[in-house]
Amino acid sequence: MIFRAVTAPPATMTPMAGAYEQLLDATIQHLEDLKSRGVRHVVVAPETLTALARPPAIGTPASGPAHAERQISARSETSAPPRVAEQKPLLALSGEIVSGPILDPKAKAAAFAALRERALVCVKCEHLASSRKNVVFGVGSIDAQLMFVGEAPGADEDEQGEPFVGKAGQLLTKIIQAMGLQRADVYIGNILKCRPDTPGQSAGNRKPTGDEMATCIPYLHEQIDLIRPRVIVALGATAVEGLLGKTLGITKLRGTWKTYRGTPLMPTYHPAYLLRNQAMSEKRKVWEDMLQVMEKLEMPISEKQQRFFLKA
Ligand code: URA
Repeated sequence: MIFRAVTAPPATMTPMAGAYEQLLDATIQHLEDLKSRGVRHVVVAPETLTALARPPAIGTPASGPAHAERQISARSETSAPPRVAEQKPLLALSGEIVSGPILDPKAKAAAFAALRERALVCVKCEHLASSRKNVVFGVGSIDAQLMFVGEAPGADEDEQGEPFVGKAGQLLTKIIQAMGLQRADVYIGNILKCRPDTPGQSAGNRKPTGDEMATCIPYLHEQIDLIRPRVIVALGATAVEGLLGKTLGITKLRGTWKTYRGTPLMPTYHPAYLLRNQAMSEKRKVWEDMLQVMEKLEMPISEKQQRFFLKA
Protein backbone atom coordinates (compact mmCIF):
# COMPACT_ATOMS: atom_id res chain seq x y z
CA MET A 1 0.00 0.00 0.00
CA ILE A 2 1.29 3.40 -0.82
CA PHE A 3 0.35 6.47 1.11
CA ARG A 4 1.37 9.92 0.14
CA ALA A 5 1.14 12.68 2.70
CA VAL A 6 -0.55 15.59 0.99
CA THR A 7 -1.90 17.92 3.66
CA ALA A 8 -0.10 21.18 4.37
CA PRO A 9 1.64 21.45 7.76
CA PRO A 10 -0.10 23.55 10.42
CA ALA A 11 1.23 27.13 10.58
CA THR A 12 2.79 26.52 14.01
CA MET A 13 5.12 23.89 12.63
CA THR A 14 8.26 24.18 10.65
CA PRO A 15 7.99 22.49 7.24
CA MET A 16 10.33 19.79 8.56
CA ALA A 17 8.22 19.20 11.64
CA GLY A 18 5.06 19.16 9.52
CA ALA A 19 6.50 16.54 7.23
CA TYR A 20 7.50 14.50 10.26
CA GLU A 21 3.98 14.68 11.69
CA GLN A 22 2.51 13.71 8.35
CA LEU A 23 4.85 10.77 8.09
CA LEU A 24 3.89 9.68 11.58
CA ASP A 25 0.18 10.10 10.89
CA ALA A 26 0.46 8.16 7.66
CA THR A 27 2.32 5.40 9.50
CA ILE A 28 -0.28 5.22 12.23
CA GLN A 29 -3.07 5.20 9.68
CA HIS A 30 -1.36 2.41 7.79
CA LEU A 31 -0.85 0.33 10.94
CA GLU A 32 -4.49 0.86 11.91
CA ASP A 33 -5.49 -0.35 8.47
CA LEU A 34 -3.34 -3.47 8.77
CA LYS A 35 -4.68 -4.13 12.26
CA SER A 36 -8.28 -3.82 11.08
CA ARG A 37 -7.50 -6.52 8.56
CA GLY A 38 -6.19 -8.85 11.22
CA VAL A 39 -2.44 -8.31 10.73
CA ARG A 40 -0.76 -8.80 14.09
CA HIS A 41 2.90 -8.31 13.32
CA VAL A 42 4.83 -5.94 11.16
CA VAL A 43 8.51 -5.90 10.44
CA VAL A 44 10.12 -2.50 10.51
CA ALA A 45 13.70 -1.95 9.49
CA PRO A 46 15.86 -0.47 12.25
CA GLU A 47 16.65 2.60 10.11
CA THR A 48 12.95 3.20 9.72
CA LEU A 49 12.31 3.11 13.44
CA THR A 50 15.19 5.48 13.94
CA ALA A 51 13.76 7.83 11.33
CA LEU A 52 10.31 7.69 12.91
CA ALA A 53 11.70 8.34 16.34
CA ARG A 54 13.75 11.29 15.12
CA PRO A 55 12.41 14.47 16.73
CA PRO A 56 11.48 17.24 14.36
CA ALA A 57 13.66 20.33 14.20
CA ILE A 58 11.67 22.70 16.40
CA GLY A 59 8.63 22.81 18.64
CA THR A 60 6.18 20.06 17.76
CA PRO A 61 4.47 19.21 21.02
CA ALA A 62 4.26 15.60 22.13
CA SER A 63 6.07 14.26 19.10
CA GLY A 64 9.48 13.23 20.41
CA PRO A 65 10.92 9.75 20.24
CA ALA A 66 9.01 8.39 23.23
CA HIS A 67 5.73 9.61 21.78
CA ALA A 68 6.46 8.03 18.41
CA GLU A 69 7.43 4.69 19.90
CA ARG A 70 4.43 4.66 22.21
CA GLN A 71 2.01 5.35 19.37
CA ILE A 72 3.48 2.79 17.02
CA SER A 73 3.59 -0.05 19.50
CA ALA A 74 0.22 0.72 21.07
CA ARG A 75 -1.54 0.88 17.75
CA SER A 76 0.11 -1.95 15.86
CA GLU A 77 0.48 -4.49 18.66
CA THR A 78 3.90 -5.33 17.36
CA SER A 79 5.69 -8.21 19.01
CA ALA A 80 9.17 -9.61 18.58
CA PRO A 81 9.65 -9.26 14.82
CA PRO A 82 10.03 -12.43 12.77
CA ARG A 83 13.28 -12.81 10.91
CA VAL A 84 13.46 -10.98 7.63
CA ALA A 85 15.05 -12.22 4.44
CA GLU A 86 15.47 -8.82 2.94
CA GLN A 87 15.45 -5.64 4.97
CA LYS A 88 12.92 -3.86 2.84
CA PRO A 89 11.64 -1.08 5.01
CA LEU A 90 7.95 -0.97 5.73
CA LEU A 91 8.21 2.76 5.51
CA ALA A 92 10.08 4.32 2.68
CA LEU A 93 11.56 7.60 3.79
CA SER A 94 10.36 9.36 0.66
CA GLY A 95 6.94 9.41 2.33
CA GLU A 96 5.58 6.23 0.75
CA ILE A 97 4.55 3.33 2.88
CA VAL A 98 4.86 -0.15 1.46
CA SER A 99 2.66 -2.75 3.03
CA GLY A 100 3.60 -6.05 4.50
CA PRO A 101 6.61 -7.78 5.92
CA ILE A 102 8.94 -9.85 3.78
CA LEU A 103 9.65 -12.95 5.79
CA ASP A 104 12.30 -15.55 5.25
CA PRO A 105 10.89 -18.83 3.85
CA LYS A 106 10.65 -20.57 7.23
CA ALA A 107 8.97 -17.64 8.96
CA LYS A 108 6.64 -17.21 6.00
CA ALA A 109 5.58 -20.88 6.02
CA ALA A 110 5.03 -20.69 9.77
CA ALA A 111 2.97 -17.49 9.50
CA PHE A 112 0.92 -19.02 6.71
CA ALA A 113 0.33 -22.23 8.65
CA ALA A 114 -0.73 -20.22 11.70
CA LEU A 115 -3.15 -18.21 9.58
CA ARG A 116 -4.57 -21.43 8.14
CA GLU A 117 -5.04 -22.89 11.63
CA ARG A 118 -6.97 -19.79 12.67
CA ALA A 119 -9.19 -19.94 9.60
CA LEU A 120 -9.89 -23.66 9.97
CA VAL A 121 -11.50 -23.13 13.37
CA CYS A 122 -13.20 -19.84 12.53
CA VAL A 123 -16.77 -19.51 13.81
CA LYS A 124 -17.26 -15.80 13.13
CA CYS A 125 -20.24 -16.57 10.85
CA GLU A 126 -22.08 -19.02 13.09
CA HIS A 127 -24.54 -20.03 10.38
CA LEU A 128 -21.72 -20.93 7.98
CA ALA A 129 -19.62 -22.63 10.63
CA SER A 130 -22.54 -24.89 11.48
CA SER A 131 -23.48 -25.70 7.88
CA ARG A 132 -20.01 -26.23 6.40
CA LYS A 133 -18.27 -29.56 6.00
CA ASN A 134 -14.86 -27.98 5.54
CA VAL A 135 -13.25 -24.59 5.67
CA VAL A 136 -11.78 -24.03 2.21
CA PHE A 137 -8.68 -22.04 3.00
CA GLY A 138 -6.82 -22.04 -0.31
CA VAL A 139 -4.43 -24.13 -2.34
CA GLY A 140 -1.16 -23.77 -4.21
CA SER A 141 2.24 -22.25 -3.73
CA ILE A 142 2.69 -19.67 -1.01
CA ASP A 143 5.50 -18.27 -3.16
CA ALA A 144 3.28 -17.94 -6.21
CA GLN A 145 3.69 -14.92 -8.45
CA LEU A 146 0.13 -15.35 -9.65
CA MET A 147 -2.92 -15.61 -7.44
CA PHE A 148 -6.48 -16.38 -8.49
CA VAL A 149 -9.31 -15.22 -6.26
CA GLY A 150 -12.84 -16.57 -6.62
CA GLU A 151 -16.08 -15.98 -4.79
CA ALA A 152 -16.75 -18.78 -2.33
CA PRO A 153 -16.65 -22.56 -2.16
CA GLY A 154 -19.48 -24.52 -3.73
CA ALA A 155 -20.72 -27.97 -2.74
CA ASP A 156 -17.73 -29.83 -4.25
CA GLU A 157 -15.23 -27.53 -2.62
CA ASP A 158 -17.02 -27.77 0.72
CA GLU A 159 -16.90 -31.56 0.42
CA GLN A 160 -13.20 -31.71 -0.47
CA GLY A 161 -11.85 -28.69 1.41
CA GLU A 162 -10.15 -27.34 -1.71
CA PRO A 163 -11.12 -24.37 -3.88
CA PHE A 164 -12.14 -24.74 -7.50
CA VAL A 165 -12.45 -28.50 -7.76
CA GLY A 166 -15.99 -28.66 -9.21
CA LYS A 167 -16.92 -28.04 -12.85
CA ALA A 168 -15.94 -24.36 -12.76
CA GLY A 169 -12.73 -25.35 -11.00
CA GLN A 170 -11.88 -27.88 -13.68
CA LEU A 171 -12.26 -25.14 -16.26
CA LEU A 172 -10.01 -22.86 -14.20
CA THR A 173 -7.43 -25.65 -14.09
CA LYS A 174 -7.57 -25.86 -17.91
CA ILE A 175 -7.07 -22.10 -18.17
CA ILE A 176 -4.06 -22.30 -15.85
CA GLN A 177 -2.63 -25.16 -17.91
CA ALA A 178 -3.23 -23.26 -21.15
CA MET A 179 -1.02 -20.55 -19.66
CA GLY A 180 1.73 -23.16 -19.33
CA LEU A 181 1.32 -23.50 -15.56
CA GLN A 182 0.04 -26.06 -13.09
CA ARG A 183 -2.30 -25.44 -10.15
CA ALA A 184 0.67 -25.97 -7.85
CA ASP A 185 2.50 -23.04 -9.49
CA VAL A 186 -0.18 -20.51 -8.55
CA TYR A 187 -2.24 -19.81 -5.46
CA ILE A 188 -6.02 -20.17 -5.56
CA GLY A 189 -8.25 -18.68 -2.89
CA ASN A 190 -11.69 -17.25 -2.36
CA ILE A 191 -13.28 -14.20 -0.79
CA LEU A 192 -15.23 -16.51 1.54
CA LYS A 193 -13.64 -19.55 3.16
CA CYS A 194 -16.95 -21.26 3.90
CA ARG A 195 -19.67 -22.33 1.54
CA PRO A 196 -22.62 -19.89 1.71
CA ASP A 197 -25.43 -21.89 3.26
CA THR A 198 -28.67 -22.51 1.41
CA PRO A 199 -31.12 -23.46 4.15
CA GLY A 200 -34.03 -25.55 2.95
CA GLN A 201 -32.35 -26.27 -0.39
CA SER A 202 -30.63 -29.52 -1.15
CA ALA A 203 -28.55 -28.00 -3.97
CA GLY A 204 -27.51 -24.69 -5.47
CA ASN A 205 -25.24 -21.87 -4.44
CA ARG A 206 -25.80 -18.32 -3.36
CA LYS A 207 -23.72 -15.16 -3.49
CA PRO A 208 -22.06 -14.24 -0.18
CA THR A 209 -23.69 -11.39 1.70
CA GLY A 210 -21.85 -8.14 2.36
CA ASP A 211 -21.57 -9.04 6.05
CA GLU A 212 -20.10 -12.45 5.28
CA MET A 213 -17.57 -10.92 2.91
CA ALA A 214 -16.57 -8.23 5.40
CA THR A 215 -16.17 -10.84 8.13
CA CYS A 216 -14.05 -13.21 6.07
CA ILE A 217 -11.95 -10.84 3.96
CA PRO A 218 -9.21 -10.29 6.58
CA TYR A 219 -8.08 -13.89 6.00
CA LEU A 220 -7.64 -13.23 2.29
CA HIS A 221 -5.85 -9.94 2.96
CA GLU A 222 -3.41 -11.77 5.18
CA GLN A 223 -2.93 -14.49 2.58
CA ILE A 224 -2.10 -11.85 -0.01
CA ASP A 225 0.19 -9.97 2.38
CA LEU A 226 2.16 -13.14 3.02
CA ILE A 227 2.23 -14.53 -0.52
CA ARG A 228 2.90 -11.14 -2.13
CA PRO A 229 1.88 -12.25 -5.64
CA ARG A 230 3.03 -10.09 -8.54
CA VAL A 231 -0.41 -10.34 -10.12
CA ILE A 232 -3.89 -11.12 -8.82
CA VAL A 233 -6.68 -12.37 -11.07
CA ALA A 234 -10.15 -11.64 -9.67
CA LEU A 235 -12.61 -14.18 -11.02
CA GLY A 236 -16.01 -12.58 -11.39
CA ALA A 237 -17.86 -9.65 -9.90
CA THR A 238 -17.90 -10.87 -6.30
CA ALA A 239 -14.14 -11.33 -6.21
CA VAL A 240 -13.66 -7.82 -7.58
CA GLU A 241 -16.14 -6.43 -5.07
CA GLY A 242 -14.46 -8.26 -2.20
CA LEU A 243 -11.02 -6.93 -3.11
CA LEU A 244 -11.75 -3.48 -4.51
CA GLY A 245 -15.17 -2.62 -3.13
CA LYS A 246 -18.19 -1.92 -5.28
CA THR A 247 -17.15 -0.68 -8.69
CA LEU A 248 -18.48 -1.15 -12.21
CA GLY A 249 -19.98 -4.43 -13.41
CA ILE A 250 -17.60 -7.19 -14.44
CA THR A 251 -18.47 -6.74 -18.14
CA LYS A 252 -17.06 -3.20 -18.00
CA LEU A 253 -14.18 -4.06 -15.68
CA ARG A 254 -12.75 -7.19 -17.23
CA GLY A 255 -9.60 -6.84 -19.23
CA THR A 256 -8.57 -3.57 -17.58
CA TRP A 257 -5.79 -3.47 -15.01
CA LYS A 258 -6.75 -2.39 -11.51
CA THR A 259 -4.56 -2.19 -8.44
CA TYR A 260 -5.08 -3.97 -5.17
CA ARG A 261 -2.86 -2.23 -2.60
CA GLY A 262 -0.07 -1.81 -5.07
CA THR A 263 -0.47 -5.20 -6.75
CA PRO A 264 -1.75 -5.31 -10.34
CA LEU A 265 -5.17 -6.94 -10.42
CA MET A 266 -6.87 -8.27 -13.54
CA PRO A 267 -10.63 -8.70 -13.32
CA THR A 268 -12.03 -11.38 -15.59
CA TYR A 269 -15.14 -13.50 -15.93
CA HIS A 270 -15.71 -16.30 -13.45
CA PRO A 271 -15.24 -19.72 -15.09
CA ALA A 272 -18.82 -20.57 -14.08
CA TYR A 273 -19.92 -17.83 -16.48
CA LEU A 274 -18.01 -19.53 -19.29
CA LEU A 275 -19.80 -22.79 -18.47
CA ARG A 276 -23.13 -21.03 -18.82
CA ASN A 277 -22.11 -19.10 -21.93
CA GLN A 278 -20.13 -21.35 -24.24
CA ALA A 279 -19.61 -18.72 -26.96
CA MET A 280 -16.10 -18.71 -28.37
CA SER A 281 -16.07 -14.90 -28.12
CA GLU A 282 -16.48 -15.06 -24.31
CA LYS A 283 -13.74 -17.67 -23.96
CA ARG A 284 -11.47 -15.47 -26.06
CA LYS A 285 -12.16 -12.50 -23.76
CA VAL A 286 -11.01 -14.45 -20.72
CA TRP A 287 -8.05 -15.74 -22.68
CA GLU A 288 -7.07 -12.21 -23.72
CA ASP A 289 -7.17 -11.24 -20.04
CA MET A 290 -4.84 -14.16 -19.30
CA LEU A 291 -2.52 -13.09 -22.12
CA GLN A 292 -2.27 -9.70 -20.43
CA VAL A 293 -1.46 -11.44 -17.16
CA MET A 294 1.23 -13.53 -18.86
CA GLU A 295 2.73 -10.42 -20.40
CA LYS A 296 2.77 -8.65 -17.05
CA LEU A 297 4.55 -11.64 -15.54
CA GLU A 298 6.98 -11.70 -18.47
CA MET A 299 6.00 -15.26 -19.29
CA PRO A 300 6.80 -16.62 -22.75
CA ILE A 301 3.77 -16.60 -25.05
CA SER A 302 3.79 -18.91 -28.05
CA GLU A 303 2.11 -18.17 -31.38
CA LYS A 304 -0.29 -20.98 -30.61
CA GLN A 305 -1.19 -19.41 -27.28
CA GLN A 306 -1.72 -16.05 -29.00
CA ARG A 307 -4.29 -17.62 -31.30
CA PHE A 308 -6.33 -19.64 -28.77
CA PHE A 309 -10.08 -19.17 -29.28
CA LEU A 310 -9.66 -17.12 -32.41
CA LYS A 311 -11.66 -18.22 -35.40
CA ALA A 312 -9.52 -20.02 -37.99
N1 URA B 1 -16.50 -20.89 -7.40
C1 URA B 1 -15.72 -20.07 -6.65
O1 URA B 1 -15.83 -18.86 -6.75
N2 URA B 1 -14.85 -20.62 -5.84
C2 URA B 1 -14.67 -21.93 -5.71
O2 URA B 1 -13.83 -22.36 -4.94
C3 URA B 1 -15.49 -22.76 -6.49
C4 URA B 1 -16.39 -22.22 -7.33
